[in-house]
Formats: sequence, C-alpha cells, structure tokens
Amino acid sequence: MKYATRPGNMAMNHQSSDARLREALEGSGQRFTEQRAAVYHYLVGTNVHPTADEVLFGVRAELPSISLATVYKSLETLVGCGLAVKLTYADASARYDGRTDPHHHARCLACGSVTDLPGEIPEQEFEALRREAGSFTVVGYRLELSGYCSRCASAGAGTSLPV
Ligand code: ZN
Ligand code: MN
Repeated sequence: MKYATRPGNMAMNHQSSDARLREALEGSGQRFTEQRAAVYHYLVGTNVHPTADEVLFGVRAELPSISLATVYKSLETLVGCGLAVKLTYADASARYDGRTDPHHHARCLACGSVTDLPGEIPEQEFEALRREAGSFTVVGYRLELSGYCSRCASAGAGTSLPV
C-alpha cells in the first residue's frame, strides 16, 4: 500500500483539489477529465469509504449521465496515481478512501461499514515488526479492527454468532 502525506485534506476546496488532481494525473500520464474530477471531489468529501456503486450514486448529482464503468475506471485511475486507496475484502465489494495519509480503520462485520480510527502505531513498534520480517522488504502495513459499529451493536449484532 502506498501512502502520501496530504495535510489538511478535509478543508480542501474544489479549486485546490483540482490543481492537485491535475498535477497528479498529468504526472502519471493521465488526462484531467470532469468525470475523474467529480469522482475525486466526492471521495475527498466523504469519510464513509464508499463502494463504486455508492460513488456512482453520489456523483450522479453532479454528472447525471456518468456510468458505473466510468466511475470504476476513474476510481482505479485515482488509486494508480496515489490519490486514493482501495480497500479490498474477500467477502464484499472494494471500498475507496480519499484519505491517503497513514491511518487505521474499524470495519463492522454486520453492516460492512468502514470508519477511520484516530491514533498511530508508534514508529518503534513498526521498526520491531520490520526487523521480525527478516529478508522481507516492508514498504507499509495495514491495520484494521473488526467488530460491530454502535448501530449494529445496539441492534444486537455481536451478542451471538456474527451475522
Ligand atoms: Zn454496522
Ligand atoms: Mn480511511
């Protein structure tokens, strides 16, 4: 997984995010298009880690004729340019994250929601893991807590076997 630092991404307006998008796309030999821009705006403006279907639903407010295939290709282009992170799961559709700075997630086993967690693994812990990995070249790591979101927990999820 590739991470780039992006200070203050939540406060970014369309103009500065467009400049950043254009630079990153063109740096990777890709064109700036209004579809890619709309997908990017949607992604950096939400913290729900949407699936491609959810991005389609959100972006249609801005571009009513955009197709799922275009949304999907735009998302993959953004991931390829380091502007988004793809979160894949064996049992569910991929989710996309417009936050590319290192952070951790909590995933609900009942509804599939993914939320950002505050806090970081201390650098020395990561270094210890890296040493344990021996000859394996470590470039990053992914930490995800699994369990039940407050809504699912109060509806009874997690009190018996996972649903
Ligand atoms: Zn849930
Ligand atoms: Mn995230």
